[in-house]
Amino acid sequence: MSKGCVLVIEDNIDNMDLVHFLLEQVGYEILEARDGRTGLEIAYQRLPDIILLDMSIPEVDGWKVAQQLKNDPQTKSICIIALTAHILPGDRKKALDAGCDGFISKPLDIPNFAGQVDAYLEKFRASG
Ligand code: MN
Repeated sequence: MSKGCVLVIEDNIDNMDLVHFLLEQVGYEILEARDGRTGLEIAYQRLPDIILLDMSIPEVDGWKVAQQLKNDPQTKSICIIALTAHILPGDRKKALDAGCDGFISKPLDIPNFAGQVDAYLEKFRASG
């Protein structure tokens, strides 16, 4: 059984492949989108457990994606984790204000990345 379904919305192919590899290895089912519009479509169709959201993506940016999903009763219970190289304190606040439930900064901490995702998902499920 899969640990959960993760939608990765990321336009950088190298990052996408890395995230996919690291999470598949530990038993997640992975869905991929390369832009915000496709990400929203897949989120509504598949209702993943967690979304890893690059904030700088084409079509619809990550902040708008998070806002839209968190303002919709159908999708607001999806855990959204911002995945971004923006690491200034203001950027963190901006991501949380948009509705993100947490934050993982890039470049990824490869040995610990899957554990970070597990921890966010467990914490989110516990807060129910
Ligand atoms: Mn990007």
